[in-house]
Amino acid sequence: VLVADDSETVRAVLRLELVHAGYQVVEATNGQEAVELARQYDVAVVLLDVEMPVLDGHQALAALKADEATRDIPVVFLSGRGAGDDLVQALREGAHDYLRKPPEPAELLARVGAANRIKELQGELRRRAEELDLVSRTDYLTGLSNRRHVEEHLRAALAASVRHGHTLAVLLLDIDHFKRVNDEGGHAAGDEVLGSVARTLVSAVRLEDLVGRWGGEEFIVVATNTAEHSAAALAERLRHAVESSTPVTVSIGGSWTPAPADRLIAAADANLYAAKDAGRNRVVVDGPPPPVV
Ligand SMILES: [Mg+2]
Repeated sequence: VLVADDSETVRAVLRLELVHAGYQVVEATNGQEAVELARQYDVAVVLLDVEMPVLDGHQALAALKADEATRDIPVVFLSGRGAGDDLVQALREGAHDYLRKPPEPAELLARVGAANRIKELQGELRRRAEELDLVSRTDYLTGLSNRRHVEEHLRAALAASVRHGHTLAVLLLDIDHFKRVNDEGGHAAGDEVLGSVARTLVSAVRLEDLVGRWGGEEFIVVATNTAEHSAAALAERLRHAVESSTPVTVSIGGSWTPAPADRLIAAADANLYAAKDAGRNRVVVDGPPPPVV
């Protein structure tokens, strides 16, 4: 708990109660110090006096709320008696609660405890939101980006490639005779193969390229800043990596910009079928499709 008050006596009283209740206490003698200490320590609750030198309580509250690192720390205002307007204003400015000085020990601990629980709940909510965000972007079986996330990424990467004038390549990869793997080894074997192909692709692309699971046994690679010959070279490198380090092979179709996302995918898909027709375990990478008239 950060106790910010310019009165030594008030700080001593609050510290005594809080330490007795098991809290660790950091003390600030003015608003500026309070803001600095809140950034420096892992503070659960700030008790903030209204009238203080350098920065008063309102100014310190504004500074805490303006900084992402301290924004979520609940602030409990400390005020003298008869400071009604001040408190209403503080609550409007984002204070969590207030206490009149001198607070009753039971009330002090109840309000600090409530503010502390708010802080814990906020942390929990943020962790859950991050987990959900990750889950919504990830293919559960392979850990790769899922189709939805690849589509989002592709739109953004296309916009960036137009803006910066560089090319972008899309490769679609399909495991050859995957049905046989499932038929012979069961679905567990199929899952195992999908996982090993995924790991092989991730380790074979450049850091800036995105590998995703596009469908059942289909994968996609979005490669940025890739010229014509290097898209084909990348595809060949991936084909070789899968052939040499997994029990299966892949056919790969690719295309590159300029073309809108849907036509790029359609062209890569057509080239993937051409690679399958030509006998599998091969690469067909072709230029962008002619514009639709
Ligand atoms: Mg004061």
